[in-house]
Amino acid sequence: MSAVAVIDSLEFARAGQVLRGSLPVAGLKRLEDGLFDTQGTLGYKLTGGLDELSRPRLELKIEGPLHLQCQRCLDRLEYAVDVSTRLLLLPEGRPPEDSDDPEGPDTIDASAELDVAALIEDEVLLSLPLAPRHPDGMCASRPKQQDEGAKRASAFAQLAALKQPNNR
Ligand SMILES: [Zn+2]
Repeated sequence: MSAVAVIDSLEFARAGQVLRGSLPVAGLKRLEDGLFDTQGTLGYKLTGGLDELSRPRLELKIEGPLHLQCQRCLDRLEYAVDVSTRLLLLPEGRPPEDSDDPEGPDTIDASAELDVAALIEDEVLLSLPLAPRHPDGMCASRPKQQDEGAKRASAFAQLAALKQPNNR
């Protein structure tokens, strides 16, 4: 199955269709600026349905790892995408009915050719932290050799412990 799909959003919602798939991060070009590298794959599930007022809507869940760049040390920052959003479909050309309600649902224009990958990219972009950083004290300021040195030292310590005569 192709990773990129185009759907008729109103039809998709009214029919209660479900679309699952995965997108390689490398294909999401608008995300690239904030990324350390483009490894990984995002999984998604798009569910069509009606809200409590029988208005067509889409429910979108996106999960997966991203490698962001820490704004403090510029090293890789593991970030777990976890988006869950509901989008009310607005008939094309009609202004949002609840436009003066800040608590109202998120909306997108209904489209007969909704690009699912672009929608996913939009939602992931909206969900990302503006200035991602490692937690305090977790930045990669230590040289890597220190880790390896510590590992070697502990290996020697284990060896030394093995060689020690049993005093008990
Ligand atoms: Zn950092």
